[in-house]
This record gives sequence, C-alpha cells and structure tokens, in this order.
Amino acid sequence: KVVLSVQNISKTYEMSGNRVAALKTVSFDLYQGEMLAIMGTSGSGKSTLLNILGALDKPNDGVISLNGTVSDNMFTEPHATIYRGDNIGFVFQSYHLLKDLSVEDNIALPLILKGEEEEEISNKVKGMMDIVGLSDWKNHRPVQLSGGQQQRVAIARAIITSPPIVLADEPTGNLDYNTSTDILGVLVNMKEKFAQSIIIVTHDPYVSTYADRVLFFHDGEIVDTYTCKKDASDM
Ligand code: ADP
Ligand code: ADP
Repeated sequence: KVVLSVQNISKTYEMSGNRVAALKTVSFDLYQGEMLAIMGTSGSGKSTLLNILGALDKPNDGVISLNGTVSDNMFTEPHATIYRGDNIGFVFQSYHLLKDLSVEDNIALPLILKGEEEEEISNKVKGMMDIVGLSDWKNHRPVQLSGGQQQRVAIARAIITSPPIVLADEPTGNLDYNTSTDILGVLVNMKEKFAQSIIIVTHDPYVSTYADRVLFFHDGEIVDTYTCKKDASDM
C-alpha cells in the first residue's frame, strides 16, 4: 500500500539573484511499513525533500498524495499544521528535547497539546517508555541522559501520537556505532509493531543497511535506487 506518492516535485531557492535547483522533478512512492533511506552527498537535496514531506517547506512544482488523495492546500496554514499533526512524526539529529521537562513529560507533550485526557496520556506514555526502554528514567531531565537515551526520548515523542509517517534526519548522526545500532533497532521495532513508514536521511552506509530501500540523491535528482530486504512493491 502506497502511503505517500511524490510526483515530479521541484524546488528552487533564490539567493541574492542566484537560482539553486535543490530538487528537480523528484518522484517516488513510500509504502506502508517501509523504512526508506535517503542518501546522497551534502547539498543533494535531502533536507529540502524532508522539509517538503513534512510540509515545513513548499515545492515550486509537483504534487504529493497521501493515501491516494492530493490535498490542494497541504502547504498552506492551517492545513499544513493539521497535516503534520495527523500524519508526521519528526526525529532530528540533535534531539530537540525540552530541557526543563522530565523524560515522561517530554514524551507526553504531543498528547497534552492534542488535549487528550490525563489518564489516557499516562497510560500511553507508560507503554511507550517500556517500548523504548526508559521506564527507569522517567523523572530524569534530558541533560542527565546519554545521547542514545535522549534519542530514544525523541523517537518516543515523535511516535506517541501514532503518526503513519516518521521523518528522521540523521537520527544517529551524533551517536557512536553501538548506540546507533541500538537506535536503529528501536526504529525497526516500531515499524514492525505499528506498520509505520519511516524515511531516514543519512550519510552513513551502515544506517542504510537497516532500510528496505535506499534512494540515492545527487544534485536534486534520484540517481539510483537499491532495494535491500524485500520487494517493496509487495508492501
Ligand atoms: P542536503 O540536505 O542533501 O545537504 P539541502 O536540501 O540542504 O541538501 O540543499 C540542497 C541545495 O539547496 C543546496 O545547494 C543548498 O545550498 C540549497 N539550499 C537549501 N536550503 C536553502 C535555502 N533556505 N536557501 C537557499 N538555498 C538553499
Ligand atoms: P499498551 O499501552 O497496552 O502498552 P501498546 O503496546 O499497543 O499498548 O502501545 C504502547 C504505546 O505505543 C502506547 O503509548 C501507544 O500510544 C503507542 N502506540 C500505539 N499504537 C501506535 C502506533 N500505530 N504508532 C506509534 N505508537 C503507537
């Protein structure tokens, strides 16, 4: 099942009179339950693509359809915020946790913002802390945690609202090999448990070995595709 269909997306930035084509008619499908890695040299358009898929930035051309439907105003507020809230979880290289909140409260935040009931929130957060292995750390603040633990909090927060799509930008970029392995394991577990689709932007060939499919970007274009684990077209 195709969750997101990206069709002929182009993005050009204007910088002091210069035009930079960051994405040139990029097309691909994202399947349900797929981990798709995006690789490519610096400047090849990876972040631009992730920003567009998260409706944080607007393409100049092309369409994105979600579950077969094109939304004409996906990039216009308030629709962009609603689209993100319903569909997208973000994981960043630098975690972006709130330093004055405990682990538990950081994870609960998206549910609090959604106005869910206290008991419901408490149950969900408890279940999620079990899954990511942070139950013993629930009252700690982010600074008291290792990088890997902080990234676990960030992942838990990104998926606590059960978004069908997780966008991860270099999620292991600040982590050593063992901790990266651990975090990738958490993401794979999540995907298997909840059939989420994950797009993971990475420089690291090791990270891409966890992916079902890898798209290689160069100069704003997909120049190669590699299917790793399974036939993605069966998904
Ligand atoms: P990557 O994430 O692969 O490093 P980016 O998507 O960040 O690539 O950048 C793609 C191209 O677009 C680069 O040439 C970059 O300089 C340019 N670019 C990205 N963001 C902006 C921006 N806000 N303004 C102008 N140019 C930009
Ligand atoms: P329990 O709360 O009984 O442990 P689960 O193990 O199914 O139930 O869920 C554990 C946590 O995972 C909960 O916090 C729940 O909000 C979250 N969760 C449930 N479904 C999804 C989903 N599709 N994507 C992401 N997280 C989910």
